[in-house]
Amino acid sequence: MNDLNNNITIAVDGFAACGKSTLAKALAKELGYIYIDSGAMYRAVTLYFLDNSIDIEDDLSVASALEQIRITFRNIDGNNHTFLNEKDVENEIRAMRVSDFVSPVSTISSVRRFLVACQKEMGKQKGIVMDGRDIGTVVFPDAELKLFMTASPEVRTKRRLLELESKGISDYSFEQVQKNLTERDRIDSTRSDSPLRKADDAIVIDNSALSTAEQLMLALTLANEIIEKKNIRESVNG
Ligand code: C5P
Repeated sequence: MNDLNNNITIAVDGFAACGKSTLAKALAKELGYIYIDSGAMYRAVTLYFLDNSIDIEDDLSVASALEQIRITFRNIDGNNHTFLNEKDVENEIRAMRVSDFVSPVSTISSVRRFLVACQKEMGKQKGIVMDGRDIGTVVFPDAELKLFMTASPEVRTKRRLLELESKGISDYSFEQVQKNLTERDRIDSTRSDSPLRKADDAIVIDNSALSTAEQLMLALTLANEIIEKKNIRESVNG
Protein backbone atom coordinates (compact mmCIF):
# COMPACT_ATOMS: atom_id res chain seq x y z
CA MET A 1 0.00 0.00 0.00
CA ASN A 2 2.88 2.38 0.77
CA ASP A 3 3.68 3.19 -2.85
CA LEU A 4 5.08 6.74 -2.82
CA ASN A 5 3.25 7.73 -6.04
CA ASN A 6 -0.10 6.90 -4.58
CA ASN A 7 0.33 8.43 -1.17
CA ILE A 8 -2.26 10.98 -0.18
CA THR A 9 -2.44 13.69 2.49
CA ILE A 10 -4.98 13.33 5.27
CA ALA A 11 -6.06 16.26 7.46
CA VAL A 12 -7.90 15.62 10.73
CA ASP A 13 -9.31 18.72 12.45
CA GLY A 14 -11.78 19.33 15.23
CA PHE A 15 -12.47 20.53 18.75
CA ALA A 16 -10.31 19.72 21.77
CA ALA A 17 -10.29 16.10 22.95
CA CYS A 18 -12.43 14.76 20.11
CA GLY A 19 -10.22 11.73 19.62
CA LYS A 20 -8.39 13.28 16.66
CA SER A 21 -4.98 11.96 17.69
CA THR A 22 -6.24 8.46 18.41
CA LEU A 23 -7.86 8.20 14.99
CA ALA A 24 -5.04 9.96 13.09
CA LYS A 25 -2.40 7.73 14.73
CA ALA A 26 -4.30 4.51 13.97
CA LEU A 27 -5.00 5.60 10.40
CA ALA A 28 -1.32 6.42 9.79
CA LYS A 29 -0.31 3.04 11.19
CA GLU A 30 -2.73 1.15 8.94
CA LEU A 31 -1.63 3.05 5.83
CA GLY A 32 2.09 3.04 6.69
CA TYR A 33 2.02 6.87 6.74
CA ILE A 34 3.75 9.41 8.97
CA TYR A 35 1.62 10.76 11.83
CA ILE A 36 2.08 14.33 13.07
CA ASP A 37 0.32 15.78 16.12
CA SER A 38 0.36 19.51 15.31
CA GLY A 39 -1.18 20.34 18.71
CA ALA A 40 1.97 18.91 20.34
CA MET A 41 3.98 21.50 18.40
CA TYR A 42 1.86 24.40 19.75
CA ARG A 43 2.18 22.85 23.20
CA ALA A 44 5.98 22.60 22.91
CA VAL A 45 6.24 26.28 21.93
CA THR A 46 4.00 27.14 24.90
CA LEU A 47 6.19 25.12 27.27
CA TYR A 48 9.27 26.96 26.01
CA PHE A 49 7.55 30.34 26.52
CA LEU A 50 6.50 29.40 30.05
CA ASP A 51 9.89 28.01 31.07
CA ASN A 52 11.71 31.04 29.66
CA SER A 53 9.19 33.63 30.90
CA ILE A 54 8.57 34.97 27.39
CA ASP A 55 6.15 37.90 27.36
CA ILE A 56 3.71 36.99 24.59
CA GLU A 57 2.74 40.65 24.17
CA ASP A 58 6.33 41.46 23.18
CA ASP A 59 6.79 40.67 19.47
CA LEU A 60 10.59 40.87 19.60
CA SER A 61 10.87 38.43 22.53
CA VAL A 62 8.51 36.04 20.77
CA ALA A 63 10.49 36.27 17.51
CA SER A 64 13.85 35.65 19.17
CA ALA A 65 12.40 32.79 21.26
CA LEU A 66 11.09 31.11 18.10
CA GLU A 67 14.62 31.15 16.69
CA GLN A 68 15.75 29.02 19.64
CA ILE A 69 13.05 26.38 19.24
CA ARG A 70 13.45 23.07 17.45
CA ILE A 71 10.65 20.54 17.63
CA THR A 72 11.03 16.94 16.51
CA PHE A 73 9.16 13.68 16.99
CA ARG A 74 10.54 10.25 17.81
CA ASN A 75 8.86 6.91 18.12
CA ILE A 76 9.71 5.29 21.46
CA ASP A 77 8.36 1.77 22.05
CA GLY A 78 5.54 2.39 19.57
CA ASN A 79 4.58 5.75 21.11
CA ASN A 80 4.99 9.16 19.54
CA HIS A 81 7.19 11.44 21.68
CA THR A 82 7.62 15.18 21.20
CA PHE A 83 11.12 16.59 21.63
CA LEU A 84 11.82 20.25 22.34
CA ASN A 85 15.46 21.09 21.62
CA GLU A 86 16.41 17.40 21.97
CA LYS A 87 14.54 16.98 25.30
CA ASP A 88 11.62 14.57 25.57
CA VAL A 89 8.71 16.78 26.70
CA GLU A 90 5.84 14.41 25.85
CA ASN A 91 4.42 14.39 29.40
CA GLU A 92 5.27 17.97 30.31
CA ILE A 93 3.32 19.41 27.35
CA ARG A 94 0.12 17.67 28.54
CA ALA A 95 0.19 19.36 32.00
CA MET A 96 -2.59 21.83 32.79
CA ARG A 97 -0.21 24.82 32.98
CA VAL A 98 0.50 24.23 29.28
CA SER A 99 -3.14 23.42 28.40
CA ASP A 100 -4.25 26.67 30.05
CA PHE A 101 -1.80 28.83 28.07
CA VAL A 102 -1.61 27.06 24.69
CA SER A 103 -4.64 28.72 23.07
CA PRO A 104 -3.50 32.30 23.78
CA VAL A 105 -0.06 31.37 22.41
CA SER A 106 -1.72 29.84 19.33
CA THR A 107 -3.38 33.16 18.46
CA ILE A 108 0.05 34.73 17.75
CA SER A 109 0.58 34.99 13.99
CA SER A 110 4.39 34.63 14.13
CA VAL A 111 4.00 31.37 16.10
CA ARG A 112 1.53 30.09 13.51
CA ARG A 113 3.75 31.09 10.56
CA PHE A 114 6.71 29.31 12.18
CA LEU A 115 4.81 26.07 12.88
CA VAL A 116 2.82 26.01 9.63
CA ALA A 117 6.11 26.25 7.68
CA CYS A 118 7.50 23.23 9.63
CA GLN A 119 4.26 21.31 9.06
CA LYS A 120 4.18 21.99 5.31
CA GLU A 121 7.77 20.78 5.08
CA MET A 122 6.88 17.57 6.93
CA GLY A 123 4.05 16.92 4.47
CA LYS A 124 5.99 17.57 1.26
CA GLN A 125 6.25 13.87 0.37
CA LYS A 126 2.56 13.20 1.14
CA GLY A 127 1.90 9.91 2.95
CA ILE A 128 1.03 11.87 6.09
CA VAL A 129 -1.84 12.11 8.55
CA MET A 130 -1.79 15.35 10.54
CA ASP A 131 -4.27 16.38 13.19
CA GLY A 132 -4.98 19.86 14.51
CA ARG A 133 -7.26 22.86 14.05
CA ASP A 134 -6.22 24.40 10.70
CA ILE A 135 -4.81 21.44 8.81
CA GLY A 136 -7.54 21.17 6.17
CA THR A 137 -7.98 24.95 5.88
CA VAL A 138 -4.42 26.35 6.06
CA VAL A 139 -1.65 23.74 6.31
CA PHE A 140 -2.85 21.31 3.63
CA PRO A 141 -5.77 22.99 1.80
CA ASP A 142 -5.24 20.49 -1.04
CA ALA A 143 -5.38 17.39 1.18
CA GLU A 144 -7.16 14.57 -0.62
CA LEU A 145 -9.04 13.58 2.55
CA LYS A 146 -10.21 16.01 5.22
CA LEU A 147 -12.00 14.84 8.34
CA PHE A 148 -13.63 17.11 10.91
CA MET A 149 -14.24 15.41 14.24
CA THR A 150 -16.75 16.37 16.88
CA ALA A 151 -18.22 14.79 20.03
CA SER A 152 -20.37 15.90 22.96
CA PRO A 153 -18.63 17.99 25.67
CA GLU A 154 -19.20 15.27 28.32
CA VAL A 155 -17.67 12.55 26.15
CA ARG A 156 -14.71 14.77 25.36
CA THR A 157 -14.07 15.63 29.01
CA LYS A 158 -14.19 11.97 30.04
CA ARG A 159 -11.80 11.05 27.23
CA ARG A 160 -9.31 13.76 28.19
CA LEU A 161 -9.43 12.67 31.88
CA LEU A 162 -8.69 9.08 30.82
CA GLU A 163 -5.86 10.24 28.57
CA LEU A 164 -4.33 12.27 31.40
CA GLU A 165 -4.66 9.31 33.76
CA SER A 166 -2.93 7.04 31.25
CA LYS A 167 0.00 9.46 31.41
CA GLY A 168 0.04 9.29 35.22
CA ILE A 169 -1.64 12.72 35.61
CA SER A 170 -4.66 12.36 37.91
CA ASP A 171 -4.81 15.61 39.87
CA TYR A 172 -7.58 17.34 37.86
CA SER A 173 -11.33 17.27 38.39
CA PHE A 174 -14.00 16.77 35.69
CA GLU A 175 -14.94 20.48 36.03
CA GLN A 176 -11.35 21.69 35.64
CA VAL A 177 -10.81 19.64 32.50
CA GLN A 178 -14.19 20.61 31.01
CA LYS A 179 -13.53 24.32 31.66
CA ASN A 180 -10.15 24.05 29.92
CA LEU A 181 -11.66 22.33 26.86
CA THR A 182 -14.52 24.84 26.55
CA GLU A 183 -12.22 27.84 26.91
CA ARG A 184 -9.73 26.48 24.38
CA ASP A 185 -12.51 25.79 21.86
CA ARG A 186 -13.78 29.35 22.34
CA ILE A 187 -10.35 30.95 21.77
CA ASP A 188 -9.46 28.56 18.92
CA SER A 189 -12.73 29.20 17.05
CA THR A 190 -12.74 32.98 17.45
CA ARG A 191 -9.08 33.95 16.86
CA SER A 192 -8.47 36.09 13.78
CA ASP A 193 -5.54 34.09 12.35
CA SER A 194 -6.64 30.67 11.01
CA PRO A 195 -9.53 29.99 13.40
CA LEU A 196 -10.74 26.46 13.95
CA ARG A 197 -13.42 25.77 11.35
CA LYS A 198 -14.52 22.94 9.15
CA ALA A 199 -13.05 23.10 5.64
CA ASP A 200 -15.85 23.24 3.06
CA ASP A 201 -14.79 19.85 1.66
CA ALA A 202 -14.25 18.12 5.03
CA ILE A 203 -16.31 15.11 6.10
CA VAL A 204 -17.78 15.43 9.60
CA ILE A 205 -17.43 12.51 12.00
CA ASP A 206 -19.41 12.83 15.23
CA ASN A 207 -17.81 10.10 17.29
CA SER A 208 -19.80 10.53 20.54
CA ALA A 209 -21.24 7.04 20.05
CA LEU A 210 -18.54 5.43 17.89
CA SER A 211 -15.83 3.11 19.16
CA THR A 212 -12.24 3.75 18.09
CA ALA A 213 -12.45 0.64 15.87
CA GLU A 214 -15.60 1.95 14.15
CA GLN A 215 -14.00 5.35 13.53
CA LEU A 216 -10.91 3.72 12.10
CA MET A 217 -12.96 1.51 9.80
CA LEU A 218 -14.91 4.53 8.53
CA ALA A 219 -11.79 6.65 7.93
CA LEU A 220 -9.90 3.78 6.36
CA THR A 221 -12.75 3.11 3.93
CA LEU A 222 -12.77 6.78 2.89
CA ALA A 223 -8.97 6.87 2.50
CA ASN A 224 -8.82 3.62 0.52
CA GLU A 225 -11.53 4.82 -1.88
CA ILE A 226 -9.47 7.94 -2.65
CA ILE A 227 -6.22 5.98 -2.99
CA GLU A 228 -7.93 3.49 -5.31
CA LYS A 229 -9.29 6.27 -7.54
CA LYS A 230 -5.82 7.81 -7.65
CA ASN A 231 -4.36 4.44 -8.68
CA ILE A 232 -6.90 4.07 -11.50
CA ARG A 233 -6.30 7.64 -12.72
CA GLU A 234 -2.55 7.14 -12.73
CA SER A 235 -2.72 3.81 -14.55
CA VAL A 236 -5.01 5.38 -17.21
CA ASN A 237 -2.65 8.34 -17.60
CA GLY A 238 0.29 5.93 -17.89
O1 C5P B 1 -4.54 19.10 19.76
P1 C5P B 1 -4.36 19.73 21.12
O2 C5P B 1 -5.62 19.81 21.91
O3 C5P B 1 -3.23 19.15 21.88
O4 C5P B 1 -3.94 21.24 20.77
C1 C5P B 1 -3.60 22.17 21.77
C2 C5P B 1 -3.89 23.58 21.31
O5 C5P B 1 -2.98 23.94 20.25
C3 C5P B 1 -5.27 23.85 20.72
O6 C5P B 1 -6.24 24.10 21.73
C4 C5P B 1 -5.02 25.07 19.86
O7 C5P B 1 -5.00 26.25 20.65
C5 C5P B 1 -3.61 24.85 19.36
N1 C5P B 1 -3.57 24.30 18.00
C6 C5P B 1 -3.73 25.17 16.94
N2 C5P B 1 -3.59 24.71 15.65
C7 C5P B 1 -3.33 23.43 15.41
C8 C5P B 1 -3.19 22.50 16.47
C9 C5P B 1 -3.34 22.98 17.77
O8 C5P B 1 -3.97 26.36 17.14
N3 C5P B 1 -3.17 23.01 14.15
